[in-house]
Amino acid sequence: MVKIQLGTSIMGANELLARKNRAVFSEHDLLVANLMSSPGSGKTTILERTIESLKERLSIGVIEGDLYTDQDARRIEGKGVPVVQINTEGACHLDAGMVGRAYQQLVGHELDIVFIENVGNLVCPAEFDLGEDFKTVVISTTEGNDKPLKYPLIFCQATAILVNKIDLLPFTDFCLDKFKDDVASLNPAARVFQVSGRTGEGIEKWCDWLVGEVQRKRKESHRK
Ligand code: MG
Ligand code: ZN
Repeated sequence: MVKIQLGTSIMGANELLARKNRAVFSEHDLLVANLMSSPGSGKTTILERTIESLKERLSIGVIEGDLYTDQDARRIEGKGVPVVQINTEGACHLDAGMVGRAYQQLVGHELDIVFIENVGNLVCPAEFDLGEDFKTVVISTTEGNDKPLKYPLIFCQATAILVNKIDLLPFTDFCLDKFKDDVASLNPAARVFQVSGRTGEGIEKWCDWLVGEVQRKRKESHRK
């Protein structure tokens, strides 16, 4: 019997492309954040708020992944930053090849940071390295606090976790303490930020952390 390990070879090819992306991003002195979440958690709203807050301090670009539409990309474009849209035509995640091709459209903008908004899905986006510097998971209080235990991989990989719609917390059954305990049991190093895309609460703190990460990467790469 012949067995073809399709999964392995696809992942192998993705790893190579991710490594290539990572080298290009470093060469361009660029910090790249991969934003992941389930649909409706408010990634795009968070991104709009983040751009408003960071625009004066950093030069920002966005790669917007969506199944079919360009609605989110248009919202981001409205914030006055360069955006590249990737329509995956039904594919439920971004891969390193898509991101590498999209990034070519941003070269020349002399960016400090690029946000990649992944397709809304808590499962397979976590399995594809895009060459990013870190992964962020956005989770909203209206989704319930069982997500870390149900989708451990994505929470294990996240450097930063944003609990969005924190303004709605009193109206939900979301238990912040239980959520933080579950995250700590999976990934004790993860930074948890409580934010509201609607009111802007907590966005400054998250943005200050991002500025720190940009500076840290610069310092590290110049030491080499
Ligand atoms: Mg979106
Ligand atoms: Zn997928």
